[in-house]
Amino acid sequence: MIDFLEEVYKRKDDIIADIEKLCRIPSVLDEATANEGQPFGAACKEALDAMLEIGERDGFVCENVDGYAGHIDIGDEEAAFGILGHLDVVPCNKEGWNTDPYEVTIKNGKLYGRGVADDKGPLIAGYYAAKIIHELDLPVKMKTRIIFGCNEENGSKCMKYYFAKKPYPAMGFTPDAEFPVVYGEKAGVNFQITGEIERGNIIGIYSGTRSNIVPEVCEVYIEGNYKQYKDSFHQYLATHHLKGSVEEEGNHTKLTLVGKSAHASTPEQGINATTAMCHYLITVSENKLVQFIDECFYQDHYGEKLGIAYTGLMGPLTVNLGVLNYKNGHVSMIVDMRVPHEVNDEQLTKPIQAHLDGYGLLESHELGKALYIDPQSDLVQSLHSAYVEFTGDHTHQPQAIGGGTYAKSMPNCVAFGVEFPGTDNKIHQNNEEIAIEDLLKATAIYAKAIYNLIKK
Ligand SMILES: [Zn+2]
Repeated sequence: MIDFLEEVYKRKDDIIADIEKLCRIPSVLDEATANEGQPFGAACKEALDAMLEIGERDGFVCENVDGYAGHIDIGDEEAAFGILGHLDVVPCNKEGWNTDPYEVTIKNGKLYGRGVADDKGPLIAGYYAAKIIHELDLPVKMKTRIIFGCNEENGSKCMKYYFAKKPYPAMGFTPDAEFPVVYGEKAGVNFQITGEIERGNIIGIYSGTRSNIVPEVCEVYIEGNYKQYKDSFHQYLATHHLKGSVEEEGNHTKLTLVGKSAHASTPEQGINATTAMCHYLITVSENKLVQFIDECFYQDHYGEKLGIAYTGLMGPLTVNLGVLNYKNGHVSMIVDMRVPHEVNDEQLTKPIQAHLDGYGLLESHELGKALYIDPQSDLVQSLHSAYVEFTGDHTHQPQAIGGGTYAKSMPNCVAFGVEFPGTDNKIHQNNEEIAIEDLLKATAIYAKAIYNLIKK
């Protein structure tokens, strides 16, 4: 009986050192340095080179696919099992971090740093899992191909490019979500809503920079002296347990409301600053945009108010009003939705259009594809049994989520880890972290899971 966990612990220092090496590179999309061979900028290219260097150091065959993505082949069999991870990261707000986000800090048994959990740490876990199978010289019928892209956080153009050039592995997983196995992912869609709405006393509203995050801060510039808003706004904040401020801005007023950010696929975990702000604004303004937002989005994460609510095999449709810019009467907003595979485009668009028509607003959108792999399939069952073996967790079953991962970019692929049930690795947030014990356990689960599927 192979003790995969023991094998992983023997390599603990190497695993952490490789994660440190990758996390030191601030591989955020940077269009300013995008160029041939580095389509997502210099830092993403540097991260790609660093990962390829790790593979070369260990004697494996590596390939860089034009700076979009790369792979490391562990083993030389013809058929391949794929592990798909990403090397790009989301930006950091350094003030919100307790440590340098680009220098991994080890504290209380945890690694802290941008990318330790999303997705550099999990990618290295997958790499070591395959490396252990190889080093133990176990009999296999497939090699493991570790595939890594540089654009997961901004549309996964890396994987589209990669798979246009390279064949699909027979099956695989992406360590870029949570345990246990994720057999379903809702389709993602961004509704871009634009139009002109007479501004009334509202000079401007600004909130959110990314549609896939629940906006934490909403700022409003409104006509009138701050004294006329001060009491009612503070009262509103206190009643709703929110933070914010009222400031004098020349001869008008700036209102700031602070909610709580969260990933757009789980909007119920956040407090949307925009909708909370608009719910106050309807009491001090006749502005129609404010009315529209309050009517269609306030305290509603599931599209009830828009008339598109639906709960299917993968759970509920979710709605996040992520970005709003309103200036000189010009509206520009992005609403992120996660749509179960049973819902079609028309079911979604018709009710939304009806609401928009009432306010003279326009929309454009493109519904992405959903992922649904039979939970009874060999792939899902084998991965799940490896998870159960190392955790003893029979409670959490294979699941469906709202996040879109690389699993959608090839057939027979699911998301598998690395966040364990009941833990929060603060993915996309300040102070992203992963417990070393969890990281190593995940590596052992991966080794066992891969071996279950590729052994002779
Ligand atoms: Zn990720």
